[in-house]
Amino acid sequence: MGNYECRACRGRDGEVVLDMGNQPACDYFPKYDEPGPDPVYPLQMWLCASCGLAQLLTDPTVPEEPKGAEPAALVAQAEDAVARVAAAGMLPAGARVAEYGSPHGGSWLGLLATRGLIPIGDGDRDGDEADVIIDCFGMMHAADQAAAIAERSDRLAPRGTLLLQFHSLAAIVRQGQWNALRHGHYAYYSATALTALLAGAGLRPRAAWQFSLYGGTVLLAAGHDAPGHSDERPAMVRDAAAGPAETVRSLLADEAHSGISSPSVVGGLQREAAAQGNALREWLTAQRAAGKSVLGYSAASRAVALLCSAGVDAGLLPAVADASPGKHGLRMPGTSIPVISPAELTAAPPDEVLVFVPDLIPEVRKAYPEVEAAGAAWKDISDLS
Ligand SMILES: [Zn+2]
Repeated sequence: MGNYECRACRGRDGEVVLDMGNQPACDYFPKYDEPGPDPVYPLQMWLCASCGLAQLLTDPTVPEEPKGAEPAALVAQAEDAVARVAAAGMLPAGARVAEYGSPHGGSWLGLLATRGLIPIGDGDRDGDEADVIIDCFGMMHAADQAAAIAERSDRLAPRGTLLLQFHSLAAIVRQGQWNALRHGHYAYYSATALTALLAGAGLRPRAAWQFSLYGGTVLLAAGHDAPGHSDERPAMVRDAAAGPAETVRSLLADEAHSGISSPSVVGGLQREAAAQGNALREWLTAQRAAGKSVLGYSAASRAVALLCSAGVDAGLLPAVADASPGKHGLRMPGTSIPVISPAELTAAPPDEVLVFVPDLIPEVRKAYPEVEAAGAAWKDISDLS
């Protein structure tokens, strides 16, 4: 790729494994009456041959997404994750905790404060050493991955714990979630690539937990390398003593088995993108031919990418409902499809509501019982292909 340098290891060998061509910024929702065409930017995933990090190739400056409503699934997962890490003894009361947050929300600080940890890092205390550092979908937003991990490592106390949570590349590939690729998200981590990135900053993984959020989310606990502490013991003793470390080893072994660093494996996302776009267009066309009405639910970034790549417009999908009031009166980027409120959806339910974010189905069924009461069905987007 000429002058391109890996965002993590600075290597120059690698290849584009997913090329979506030019796409609108999925975070910028134009006003409904604002005429297009919307500006587009190249959207490509590059896989580093040296360290295995999948990453956003180009770096267009795109506007920030407004913070949407915090999905209940994310809140529930945070509670689950904090409980599991605490059970492993990694969240002691009195520990100083710093958080590198995500622009999309989802802070764990409130949960940790109730367990007696002490949040630091506000205002002039920014940069203080922390015993626990939380990074929940935060680091993926850093264009320079090597700098981002170095900053976290520098701030971590010698015996401190860095908790990094990420949407797993292995899950993205396994489930064909090509539309996880988006502007502003610079890194798509496998545990394998993240381990290499950590090693570059003198850190190594100590334990891993897996969650079903987004189809496969991993929480990795890492600490500073401490040569001489564990490495001098015989392997059997080390293994017997290192229960949590086994969770890391089995995760890395699974990834090696699936070929997560191989361009041909990760490149399967390109075929998925085409297949899912075709499946969506064909299903909507068939519904229209059968006289059935369909509306969408959730104006999430992945819905934007899918609608654009499938070439779906308001003729096939007349509107998308979303719980975030900030999006009402806007339209889906790159299309003429308006974003409406849930009240507009429930006032006149269509025959089917196509849900672009399957994690939301339990909560929308509960929140909008009028939809099923009117005989309409919530349709899971992942059931189309
Ligand atoms: Zn690299």
